[in-house]
Amino acid sequence: MRLAGLLDPAAPVASVLSTWDAGEWEFAVEDVAEILSDRHTPLLRTDRAAVLELAAAFGVSAKAASALRWCPDLEADDEWWREIEGSPRAAAVEGELSLEIAPGHTLHGIELTPWLECGACDDVLVRLDDENARSGRARYQVAVIHPAWSRQPEPPPWPSTVLFDQALDALDRLESCFRGALEADAPFVD
Ligand SMILES: [Zn+2]
Repeated sequence: MRLAGLLDPAAPVASVLSTWDAGEWEFAVEDVAEILSDRHTPLLRTDRAAVLELAAAFGVSAKAASALRWCPDLEADDEWWREIEGSPRAAAVEGELSLEIAPGHTLHGIELTPWLECGACDDVLVRLDDENARSGRARYQVAVIHPAWSRQPEPPPWPSTVLFDQALDALDRLESCFRGALEADAPFVD
């Protein structure tokens, strides 16, 4: 995918926004970011920068920046995480969790959909399948779980689990392997 060059922040602002200014362009830019986000579209840095530049021109920087966090970096040295939803890997994780999560565990009896997997450790980000969330009446809760891969029920609170109301907070947690390493390497700035 080549976005850079196609998106020219200056053009719509100057030519169109002045005559057609009911927020349509803001929504269009938000939609672009959200579609990329929903599909976990891997982005080149130039494309990410192009979308963010466009978002800045239309005043939707924060929303676009959050949305694009769900798009992997094609040029990164390490794979921070991968999407597994719907894959044989997700089925294997789901099977393992249903074995390990025993009565007394926070997530016992709740249907879980494995969504993303850490690229460095066994952490998985799962969505809690909930009637209200499925019908759009509530936000999906998510959790980052560390399966033991023991093929047997674990004594609660294992497998270790952290629950989140905000998917971005769960993503922070999933990326903590890498963020921790980056922060440890970073020189002190004061
Ligand atoms: Zn990890």
